[in-house]
Amino acid sequence: MGKYTFGPVPSRRLGFSLGVDIIPKKYCTFDCVYCQVGKTTCNTIERKSFFDPNSIVQEIIERSKAKRPIDFITFSGTGEPTLNSDIGWIIREVKRYVELPIALITNSSLLWNEKVRADIVEADVILPSFDAASEDIFCFINRPHGMISLDMLIEGIRLLRKDYRGKIWLEIMLIDGINDDEEELKKLKGIVKTFNPEKIQLNTVTRPPLDDSIIGVDSLRMDDIREFFGEGCEVIGDFDKDDLYAYDYESSNWQERILEMIGRRSLTIEDITKVSGLESKEVERCLKKMEREGKVKRRFLDDTIFFVVPDEV
Ligand code: SF4
Repeated sequence: MGKYTFGPVPSRRLGFSLGVDIIPKKYCTFDCVYCQVGKTTCNTIERKSFFDPNSIVQEIIERSKAKRPIDFITFSGTGEPTLNSDIGWIIREVKRYVELPIALITNSSLLWNEKVRADIVEADVILPSFDAASEDIFCFINRPHGMISLDMLIEGIRLLRKDYRGKIWLEIMLIDGINDDEEELKKLKGIVKTFNPEKIQLNTVTRPPLDDSIIGVDSLRMDDIREFFGEGCEVIGDFDKDDLYAYDYESSNWQERILEMIGRRSLTIEDITKVSGLESKEVERCLKKMEREGKVKRRFLDDTIFFVVPDEV
């Protein structure tokens, strides 16, 4: 079972993504209401060398040799990846040995730090989040560490744009009744323009969030908002590489691989069927067994059943 890697998982933004998780659960600079990973237990801005960086690089190299298609090696996972002070070295080493593009998903909170920006400059794509243009909404949605302000976050993304030659795909997570009103959207649009990202990707709550009272924005409204942002803006669509779904998952270890993924994001039976290539009945049977053994449990979002590992809730 991978200690630092998971997947490849079908990602709505990155195709088949080999996930890299270099943060202990759950160290983060934020404690977002929509987080799928669970409550932040260590809310910090202190960067650290959490694990042996050589072991991380070796594992990425090994996992990237899999016959399965991989579109990106993606640093994301169970916390904010830029908290790991080895990330720069790890990215550079992986680039030396693996010919796959590297993506970094970040909550943008540490981009004001010059050392952080220097560390991530070799990633091919950076996907920073930016969910609010008003301090009170920022605090409500992202619940940041006390030392992080919205101004610091905005300045950080602007400085990244200045220093960085790769692509920036900015994500905005929209929450019904919180950051989707006209006034907030106008402010968001004005600030986002100054970031000059290659893409603006609108997302909403589609998997069970940390705070059950949080509701996603419906698809018609998402389309209206996309139009409002204009060129370069897209709603993150469903994953559409159907023909590639049924690749071989070694039958002996697929349950372990599924657990690796569920530990980082909740999955439906349909998701698991797609990544495992197994019949949905077989997946259902195995999940029931794993449920009885206490390895997974169910959560609901509307009428959809998601599977999570028990301490995720
Ligand atoms: S969604 Fe990301 S940034 Fe927000 S608390 Fe979860 S891991 Fe941290």
